[in-house]
Amino acid sequence: MVDVQRPLPKTHELDTKAFWAATKNEELTYQRCDDCEAVIFYPRRHCTKCLGNSLTWHTATGRGTIYTYSIVRQSYHPFFRDRVPYAVAWIDLDEGPRLLSEIVGVDDPASLEIGQRVKVAWESHEELSVPLFKPE
Ligand SMILES: [Zn+2]
Repeated sequence: MVDVQRPLPKTHELDTKAFWAATKNEELTYQRCDDCEAVIFYPRRHCTKCLGNSLTWHTATGRGTIYTYSIVRQSYHPFFRDRVPYAVAWIDLDEGPRLLSEIVGVDDPASLEIGQRVKVAWESHEELSVPLFKPE
């Protein structure tokens, strides 16, 4: 049987390169605007609030809450096919960014709750680590 890998992001795109490089060290980073302090996520070259281009990288603690989630019960992708059912969630990090990821470490994804505390659970790969989340 062929070992099927998780589909991984491209690590050399200009806007997201630094984000993925930091994940290799298990650092979950986000940007904040120096002018208006807006939190920017996903990584970009400009502030989405004031359109300024002075953004600074910060490292999140990796802790947050489930904003909402959905349970995937069917997948045709060879990697995800054997993982169903699993939960995909929007996660509000304590520092402000909202990101989409998979919730791992739960036997029954239907037991998850909106507002539940989660923390990052890194899945290591050669060039990067994927930030998955598990209940705290
Ligand atoms: Zn701004």
